[in-house]
Amino acid sequence: MRVTADVDSIISLSNELTSQLVVPPSVAAGVCPRCRTWNDSDSNADCENCCEISARLGCPAVPLSVVSLYCKPSPLRDWLTCYKGRIDDSEPFIESYVPNVRALLGRFIIEHGRAIGALSDGLDGLVVVPSTDRPGPHPLEEIIRSLDIDIPVLPILRRGHGDLGFRKPSRDGYEVTVTGHTGQRLVVVDDVYTTGARINSAAYALVQAGCTLGAAIVVARRVNPGYSEAAQEFWNGQRAKTFDWAASPVVSEGNHE
Ligand SMILES: [Zn+2]
Repeated sequence: MRVTADVDSIISLSNELTSQLVVPPSVAAGVCPRCRTWNDSDSNADCENCCEISARLGCPAVPLSVVSLYCKPSPLRDWLTCYKGRIDDSEPFIESYVPNVRALLGRFIIEHGRAIGALSDGLDGLVVVPSTDRPGPHPLEEIIRSLDIDIPVLPILRRGHGDLGFRKPSRDGYEVTVTGHTGQRLVVVDDVYTTGARINSAAYALVQAGCTLGAAIVVARRVNPGYSEAAQEFWNGQRAKTFDWAASPVVSEGNHE
């Protein structure tokens, strides 16, 4: 997967934003290998939330590829919320944040797009996880189209009947609307990850439709340092690390079996 748009300006802006990024963890004791947050054990077992996803969907949570961690409040959180605003107007749309989100995802693909493609021995398309409540194309989809990547952006998912919410993935949260993609190798992308209900439900729908998941990418994975002492310690440790575009983002296979 390759970016063919204005690579130099994407690199330059992403460099300016780097000070706001927090290194996601490598797989280690105390880290969930799927969603890359702390887990409550001394092993590298799946966290409680990923176990819940697995129980509800009947298949393991996707191992995530992650650009950065974030917490609330933070500039990164604001960029990722207000580049689209909220449909109920509780958060404004701030147009100047759109290039920031574009630079973060664009730079990730510039640095790691080749590795992502290699995970599934090539990619046939990219699917953005549709919004839970916003009609029409997701604002992230427009951003990705503007990067002129060398694989098609496929609008083949829509919200299904299943309820989706905080810690609530659903087998029919999304449905595939277009036939003919069976057997294709896809990468699924979302802006933020909190409990994984959306991206895991989207991945489930695609795999059920016969697609192969090459990777599941999120720009930022939320951490709540106030949740526990272990969470705070995890956050402090990651924040103390220096973010490096080549070495810091996590690239994981998207296997969803
Ligand atoms: Zn997890």
